Amino acid sequence: MTVLIPEDAIRERVREIATELNADFTGRIFTVVGILTGSLIFLADLVRRLEHRHQIGLLQASSYRGTATTPGILVLNTGLLPEIRGRHILLLDDILDTGATLSQVVAHLHGLGAASVKTCVLLRKIGRQTVPFEPDYVGFSIPDAFVVGYGLDFNDDYRHLPYIDVLPEGTAV
Ligand code: 5GP
Ligand code: MG
Repeated sequence: MTVLIPEDAIRERVREIATELNADFTGRIFTVVGILTGSLIFLADLVRRLEHRHQIGLLQASSYRGTATTPGILVLNTGLLPEIRGRHILLLDDILDTGATLSQVVAHLHGLGAASVKTCVLLRKIGRQTVPFEPDYVGFSIPDAFVVGYGLDFNDDYRHLPYIDVLPEGTAV
């Protein structure tokens, strides 16, 4: 596999994002919400660099993409979330691809009564977005390739890699 983003580059960028968040969230108690499972490692690294008090919550979003002609259906499991009503939310995801997941999760959090929702993605794929949506914080913009590592999986494997790689075509399941 070709290393797209090495471990030290991720570490440095996570540190920079945390610096931005520490400035932007000054004086505000907030809740970091990670979308399972892909955001798990990003969340664990990022929150340890946040200086202000915050809670951590998790939700699961699974998209069943259907065929090329049918839009994917997003299934949310919000049973693990703490109280969202009246809270300022920092929503984390591993990657912004079409934008469908984040836009729907943001709408859902507003529906639960969140006071505000900011979004942060580690990766953003260029040229793939079909749903208009602007994340507030982006780690890296990457070309349109299927990537794994640092939480991102292929068939639930490769999440443990400390770097981000492009999965080669024809990789055995
Ligand atoms: P979206 O709803 O923006 O199209 O997709 C977001 C979700 O699709 C991400 O949370 C992630 O689970 C998955 N995804 C999109 N692109 C990739 C990729 O290149 N690699 C992996 N492992 N997952 C991806
Ligand atoms: Mg995901």
